[in-house]
Amino acid sequence: MTGLMLQRPDLWREQAFVGGEWCDDDARLEVDDPATGAIVGSVPALGREAAEKAVEKAKDAFPAWRTLTGKERGRILQRWADLMYRHSEDLARIMVTEQGKPLAEARGEVTYAASFLEWFAAEASRVRGDIIPPHMPDRRLIATRQPVGIVAAITPWNFPLAMITRKAGPALAVGCPIVVKPSELTPFSALALAVLAQEAGVPDGVLSVLTGTPEAIGDVLTGDPRIAKFSFTGSTRVGKMLAARCADTVKRVSLELGGNAPFIVFEDADLDAAAEGLIASKFRNMGQTCVCTNRVLVHDSLHDRFAALLERKVAQLKVAPGLDDGSEQGPLIDMRAVDKVRAHIRDALQQGARLITGGESHPAGERFFTPTVLADVPADALICREETFGPVAALQRFESEEEAVRLANNTRAGLAAYAYTQDAARQWRLTEALEYGMLGLNTGLISTEMAPFGGVKESGLGREGSHLGVDDYLEVKLACIAVP
Ligand code: NAD
Repeated sequence: MTGLMLQRPDLWREQAFVGGEWCDDDARLEVDDPATGAIVGSVPALGREAAEKAVEKAKDAFPAWRTLTGKERGRILQRWADLMYRHSEDLARIMVTEQGKPLAEARGEVTYAASFLEWFAAEASRVRGDIIPPHMPDRRLIATRQPVGIVAAITPWNFPLAMITRKAGPALAVGCPIVVKPSELTPFSALALAVLAQEAGVPDGVLSVLTGTPEAIGDVLTGDPRIAKFSFTGSTRVGKMLAARCADTVKRVSLELGGNAPFIVFEDADLDAAAEGLIASKFRNMGQTCVCTNRVLVHDSLHDRFAALLERKVAQLKVAPGLDDGSEQGPLIDMRAVDKVRAHIRDALQQGARLITGGESHPAGERFFTPTVLADVPADALICREETFGPVAALQRFESEEEAVRLANNTRAGLAAYAYTQDAARQWRLTEALEYGMLGLNTGLISTEMAPFGGVKESGLGREGSHLGVDDYLEVKLACIAVP
């Protein structure tokens, strides 16, 4: 158990939550603090049996849960959100302890995560169907939308609360129970969420949080025919593999996968605003965000000035453990992440890039990396082709809008893209030409519960948030009625 001082110590749970019961297991998974490497606690290493039990309990809970009115389910979701707001400081501290992000960002994530519950609490009453003009005089056509059934969700470590509420919110709102497997690196945030769900009145079996071995639990969540829908957020590699397994039982599948976001600075950009936007979109969560900028395409005429501007701003970022006052850059999640950042920098430098600032580990600890800027990075460097997921801004030159768009689209990823330009006509052209699910024009921050979030190409399937966010949890049913 961690030495973390919480106002509600019971939010730190070292048990999993299966069908409304808190359960233990002798086999344990240890969780560490990325800032120190110290073990902060452990959770049960559950497997197949627990996953099957969670599905069974979800099946039992489904009929009563779907029969509640949307308003009744919405009230429970709103209470859950209110509890998150009330205990936001504890939730933020738990998150920093297992995930590493600066406390200010963790507080922001708690609010962002709760906002999905709040949004879908209201959407619960707004699920509509269609009455269709009939094709024959003695027929009536009615299309209703009904909950798809039991939902399974697998979520990543980089947003340990929000990636769960973005799925649990719409699932529960429309009447589906959900079984969640959070990342083994960040189970405590998910378990705190389950404590508050229970307190808010989410009935037993409607939400389970399984901790344990990803493969064993994943086998059940992708293979069990009782599960109607599988929703995954994580890496493209794992997402593709799990989606393929869902094919056997023809589950509905939603995928939120990796990105490779371009950030384009045109010759008419407000350079200071672009630098601020880049810091927000590149260095948030130490670069470990799916919508993080991965490649910075800068017009040739501004490239060197922009590099100099970034050098000053990036060098000022305070690197320190997330719970330290004023921390702006915490540790990376694990040593694998640090090694990947190092490998991408090494490759870029070997291919002729210039190091502007950073480029090495930070004295704050072995998982801390100094925020880095590289200039003149060639387009075929690893860092331009793969998601780096670390605090490195890689600047590339371009000479024309056409070239910028071609470079930006030259990837199988299609999650988020950013561009800074003051030319309104160009903004329209980019909106049409960039092959991405989300665009930030003159802004580096794009996510809100009110807007659709998701990718195209190999970045995913489906949209989360907004009024569209419930669609993936609903099935359309036609009733064709003979009225003689
Ligand atoms: P990951 O794919 O390694 O893990 C994600 C989840 O899958 C974890 O819960 C993990 O335990 C589980 N998992 C891994 N292997 C599994 C297996 N064989 N069977 C069953 N489950 C398995 O990804 P990560 O490192 O946790 O997260 C970072 C990735 O997530 C990045 O690529 C990032 O871009 C992506 N991401 C995407 C979005 C989005 O909305 N598009 C949001 C956040 C993160």
